[in-house]
This record gives sequence, structure tokens and C-alpha cells, in this order.
Amino acid sequence: MDDIVRARGGTTSVMIDPFGRSITYLRVSVTDRCDLRCVYCMAEDMTFLPRADLLSLEELDRLCGAFIRLGTTKIRITGGEPLVRRDVMKLFRSLGARLGSQPDQGLRELTVTTNATQLARHAEALHAAGVRRVNVSLDTLEPAKFTAITRWGKLDRVLDGIFAAKAAGLAVKINTVAVRGLNEDEIDAMLAWCGERGFDFCLIETMPMGEIDADRTSQYLPLSLVRSRLRRRWTLTETGYTTGGPARYFDVAETGTRIGFITPMTHNFCESCNRVRLTCTGTLFMCLGQDDAADFRGPLRAGADDAALEAAIMAAIARKPKGHDFVIDRRQAAPAVTRHMSVTGG
Ligand code: SAM
Ligand code: SF4
Repeated sequence: MDDIVRARGGTTSVMIDPFGRSITYLRVSVTDRCDLRCVYCMAEDMTFLPRADLLSLEELDRLCGAFIRLGTTKIRITGGEPLVRRDVMKLFRSLGARLGSQPDQGLRELTVTTNATQLARHAEALHAAGVRRVNVSLDTLEPAKFTAITRWGKLDRVLDGIFAAKAAGLAVKINTVAVRGLNEDEIDAMLAWCGERGFDFCLIETMPMGEIDADRTSQYLPLSLVRSRLRRRWTLTETGYTTGGPARYFDVAETGTRIGFITPMTHNFCESCNRVRLTCTGTLFMCLGQDDAADFRGPLRAGADDAALEAAIMAAIARKPKGHDFVIDRRQAAPAVTRHMSVTGG
């Protein structure tokens, strides 16, 4: 296996799925816990996993190492809220130490998705560990609405986190889930706010994942509609820019920044999928919207060596499905997949 990676200069994944997609991007959910309860993501009285079920940070690091040897070039740490996991900076530091251009150190980017409640105290350490970009989830700039969407959150604390990240030299992208009737009237203002501060902005459609306390069909807002509304005020030009994810980016002439649209529901974002998702229990989901998964906690705890872990990863990649089956259907009461986004890690 090492020979193949070396022959490829460490830049191309040896993980090619049955549809010819090169799997170079690993998202790692380090906890299912969170200090917020966003209405589209979780029920208020969520039950979280017993701590014994979680992989240790060392186990997560070991698995990430196996993925990197097989050609993973980008790792995103997510959750739940990743920055509430105790000692998570240890994982950032050890993964950050693998960033480099050597053939056997093929990791090119380490990044994080966070709600920013804990970002003020971690921003400098993230930068020191090698993180250069952070995605912050923020659905509104109105304090009362922020608390309504997150149930428990305080907007000021999140804004402090965002500005600390900027001050620490991290590029910030604001991710906003577009929710019908909740923040659709604010999207213009958020684009302007991001533009003034040099933040890219990315809109996401809600996805039917996990039981929540609300009716998902009433939350769903198609981004095709949002984009045509935005075009009344902004000059949007589609670009080929990509961060290796499913967003379609447009330059915003008036701000000099970009806006991205992630449209799992209205646009099939599966064709160019380059990612798999590892949960905090060591379960690898090959697709966000399918239930098939591979367990790595069992082999890890049974003493599997590196070759066995790599073989198990390759076997899982060989099962990666073509795409998800999400539909927004008023007759369909149940979510498309029963696990919450906070389990698979967004
Ligand atoms: N807690 C962190 C945060 O909020 O950024 C990271 C995990 S969160 C699950 C990752 C992303 O998933 C967030 O941007 C969140 O808004 C989004 N998300 C959660 N549930 C979703 C759903 N049902 N549909 C679409 N996006 C969702
Ligand atoms: Fe927590 Fe992120 Fe889910 Fe909100 S979206 S409840 S911040 S995991």
C-alpha cells in the first residue's frame, strides 16, 4: 500500500470508489454532544452516547493516520460541537503535525466546523496547530432569533468567537442553514455583513436527518428561490471555485467575496462526492444520506494492526453508494435517515 501512495506522490487517493470517485476528504465527528440545540438539528431533550462508546482521541488519531496513508488530503473536525470535547486540541495538534508535503505525510488541510461558542478561547491554538480556515455555523444576526433557533445560544458569544478567529489569522466562512419563515428575510443582510468583514458565506438547505420536535417540510426552503431573490440586489457570477465540497460558488461583485449554495435537495450533489464520515464511535458512513456503515471500534479495540485497518477502510470504500435518497415529501412523516446530523457530523 505504501508503494502505491509513494508512486502517486501522496497526492492522489488510492481510495477509489465503485463510481470512480477519488476519496480524499475525511470528516471526523469527535463528539455527538453540543452546547446548543438548533431546531433543525436536534430535539431539545437529546440523549447522548455513553462516554465509554466514544473512541479516545488517540484511537481517532490512529484511524485518521490510516486514512492519510491511503490518500486522504483533507480532514475536517466536526460534531456535535467539536470544541466541547475535552482535550480536543490534542487531536488538532497531532493531526496538524502530519500536515506537510512528504509522500507519507499527505495531509494538506486540517479544518473545523464549529458553532463558535468556544472559538474565542481556541482560535489561536487552532492556528498554531496548522488550521487556516474555519467554518462557523450562524443562521441569524438577530440576538433573539439566534436564541430561538439554537434554543440556548447567545449571539454575542458566537460573534466574539468569530472575531477572535479572524484576529488569529483564520479565514472564516459563515455557513447558514436557510429555514423557511425563520431566517429567509435576513439572508440579504447576512450577505452584506459577511461581505463587509471579508467572510465567505455559504447557504445550506435543510436535510431530513433524525427526529426533531418540528415538521421538517415546513422548514425546507429551496435555495434556487433564495438565489433568485438575492439576484434582485446582488450581481452573482458563477465561478469554478471549490473548497473540495459540494457547494456551488458565485462571486458577489458588490462585496468582492463569494457566496456558496449547498443544495442536497434541489441539485444532486453526489456526483462529485469525495468524502466519507467517521463518527466519534468509530463508525464510518460512506454516505451522509444512507445507513450502510463500517465499524472500526471493534477492530481497533481487538488490536488490529495498521495493515488490517487499511484493508478495512478499502473494503468500506468499495461499498460507497452512488448517492443519497433524500426527498422532501409532505406524506413522508419519518426522516430519510434516522441518525441526526450531529452524529454523522454535517
Ligand atoms: N456544531 C457544529 C456546527 O454547528 O457548526 C458542527 C456540527 S453541525 C451538525 C454541522 C452543520 O450541519 C451545521 O452547519 C449545521 O447547521 C448543519 N446541520 C445540522 N442539521 C442539519 C440538517 N438537518 N440539515 C442541514 N444542515 C444541518
Ligand atoms: Fe449543535 Fe451544530 Fe447541531 Fe446546532 S447544528 S445543535 S450547534 S451540532
